[in-house]
Amino acid sequence: MRPFQYQRASDASAAVQALGAAAGNNSPLTQATAQPLAGGTTLIDLMKLDVMRPAAIVDINPLAQGWSAIEPGSDGLRLGALARMSDVAAHDEIQRFYPVIANSLKLAASAQLRNMATLGGNVMQRTRCSYFRDVSHDNCNKRHPGSGCAAMEGVNRMHAVLGTSDQCIATYPGDFAQALIALDATVEITGRSGIRSMPFADLHKAPGNSPDIETTLQPGELISAFAVPGRWPRSVYLKARDRQSYEFALSSAAIALDVQDGVIRDARVALGGVATVPWRAHDAEALLKGQKFNDDMAERAADAAFAGAVGRRHNSFKIALGKRVVARALQQAAMMEI
Ligand SMILES: Cc1cc2nc3c(=O)[nH]c(=O)nc-3n(C[C@H](O)[C@H](O)[C@H](O)COP(=O)(O)OP(=O)(O)OC[C@H]3O[C@@H](n4cnc5c(N)ncnc54)[C@H](O)[C@@H]3O)c2cc1C
Ligand code: SF4
Repeated sequence: MRPFQYQRASDASAAVQALGAAAGNNSPLTQATAQPLAGGTTLIDLMKLDVMRPAAIVDINPLAQGWSAIEPGSDGLRLGALARMSDVAAHDEIQRFYPVIANSLKLAASAQLRNMATLGGNVMQRTRCSYFRDVSHDNCNKRHPGSGCAAMEGVNRMHAVLGTSDQCIATYPGDFAQALIALDATVEITGRSGIRSMPFADLHKAPGNSPDIETTLQPGELISAFAVPGRWPRSVYLKARDRQSYEFALSSAAIALDVQDGVIRDARVALGGVATVPWRAHDAEALLKGQKFNDDMAERAADAAFAGAVGRRHNSFKIALGKRVVARALQQAAMMEI
């Protein structure tokens, strides 16, 4: 591990000043010379692996008092970025009104990790592509722009089938982000010029020609909270993985339905484990809206969700698996008694 400077932020203003000052340029946050430290469960790993090499770390845990609230209300939910995954997953009202959020967190990582890890750190986690995480491989456009992509012709079983480019096919690995994107969440960002909000869907960037730029956050900016409009008691997070615990998704679906008098008034479908960014399946949603639910429709919606998918040597199975996960999650959501 390389030497780095450790700084403990006394408040939000000190944190963004320290992060912005140390960065000193316009590099994307993920490449910046200063990184915020929350639970540390993935940043420290990546520093030990020599993948991330920040010269400075700004510990934002002292901000927890203001940034870790879990606030469900009758018209929506606000979650502080420093709330721990385990606390949100275990919260009674999150389980009752947002089961898709509770389960996306409960099915992630391990109990120990969830106790330590924060929501902000979770959405900012980086891909688990093994070529990205192993610096002995020179050709990774995400680590070294222009160096090529070892996964393209290499072992790509875990890689993405949606949102890929000829520069990078790495999967976005998190679970919670699929729940947020499905529920039209917004993300609150605190920076040097104050607080701004944007749709969560605008936070992550598809790889395109610059896979090294993963989010729209700038150095000196921190995620301070997430907001979810409305309540979604009829919602499901279903995750298929190689083992039943402590494993990333091969394919997952975040589903939310608003059903009145047997008719689907609103439908949300998001996919995990199969795309380069948190992925919303708008075409699948359009098929469901205004209809009465049946199994055939669930399968047609699942087909629509994967219409643009492109499989590679080892990961084509994700397309068939992903469709089954979406169809089953839709069935589970439709059958929920609420
Ligand atoms: C073995 C293992 C298995 C895992 N399995 C899963 C899984 O199945 N599903 C899943 O979703 N996750 C999984 N994870 C990932 C885990 O959930 C993340 O490590 C964790 O959520 C990161 O949170 P943290 O607070 O520890 O982040 P940190 O490690 O502190 O930070 C992560 C990144 O986010 C940045 N950051 C942190 N907070 C903020 C903020 N407020 N604003 C802006 N940037 C910020 C940091 O600078 C860093 O770059 C797994 C991790 C491990 C080690
Ligand atoms: S898929 Fe992306 S992260 Fe993985 S080796 Fe290729 S460029 Fe690097």
